[in-house]
Order: sequence, then structure tokens, then C-alpha cells
Amino acid sequence: MLSILIVPIRPVDHAELTSLIAPLTSAFEQSVSIEESHYVDPAFAFDSYRNQFNSTSIIAALLESYPTHQGKIIGITTVDLFVPVLTYVFGEAQLDGKVAVLSSFRLREELFGLDPNPELEHIRLLKEAVHELGHTFGLIHCHRPECVMHSSTSAEEIDVKGKNFCEECDQTIREATSTMS
Ligand SMILES: [Zn+2]
Ligand SMILES: [Zn+2]
Repeated sequence: MLSILIVPIRPVDHAELTSLIAPLTSAFEQSVSIEESHYVDPAFAFDSYRNQFNSTSIIAALLESYPTHQGKIIGITTVDLFVPVLTYVFGEAQLDGKVAVLSSFRLREELFGLDPNPELEHIRLLKEAVHELGHTFGLIHCHRPECVMHSSTSAEEIDVKGKNFCEECDQTIREATSTMS
């Protein structure tokens, strides 16, 4: 049975993960669950020079850890992620693949000297979770500014776009999920 598995990567806010289950279930029309028995320690992906965690290494490790999982996997963490060519990433995903990873680190208002805003930060995390999982279902970036697959490099850009797929992207997701199941 196909499903989406959320894998906690330490340190992580478990309540935050739980709140993603219902909206991700409706976005992808698949069952969504949290890996409760194993939390990943991302120490292996730590770059001491950058003081950040390599998202590509985390994806590789998740791929190795769940060889038999039928469906998609998204690792979620609060640590700061990077890929070598960029200062930071919100997340990374295998295009038309199995695994994505996402961090709430760069989604926090505190990063901009503002007061914490849990509600806004939750919506940002949800949008980026849908976005990264969208990549695993084969979606590339969408030119429609309201679409959740629109590319965002700042938190403000995430706030501008919607949390849903546009009609065209939604169609692609439906086709991808119907051929898989
Ligand atoms: Zn993207
Ligand atoms: Zn779109």
C-alpha cells in the first residue's frame, strides 16, 4: 500500500509533524504516517566548517534506511540545511524519486529579528512539505505565482504563494498517484 512516511530528524517538534498529517493526506490523497520508532540523528551530515547539515547526505541516508517502503518519505528537522552551491536550502527532494528532506530552521520569524509566530511558521512548513513532496511526484517548479510549486528562496516568497497545487500541477499529481497505486 502506497503511503507517505514522515521521518523525524533530531531535533524536531513532534507536535509540528502531527499537524502535517491531515493537510498532507488531503493534498496527495494518500495515507500519511510518522515514523515513531526511529528518530534520525543527522550528525553524519554535519559540516563543521559551515555549521550546517548537508541535505543531500540526509536524502541518501533515508533512501538507504527504507529500501522496502512503497511510496514517499519526507525527513523533517529543525537543523539548518545546505547543499554545497547554496547558502542554505529550506529542503531538497529527489525529482520523481522517493525521498525529500525539509527543515523549519529558515522559516522562523526569529531569524529576521521578529517575534515567533507559530501559526505562520506552521503554514510555511506545510507549504514547503507539499512543495518538496510535489517534486518527488515529478513536479518541477511552476510559473504560476499562487501555486505551491512556485519556487521560493525566502520566507516572504513562501508567504506570497498558496498552499495548494494549481490546476495543472494538481492534474500531474493525480496522474502520478493513479499510476502508482
Ligand atoms: Zn522546489
Ligand atoms: Zn502549478
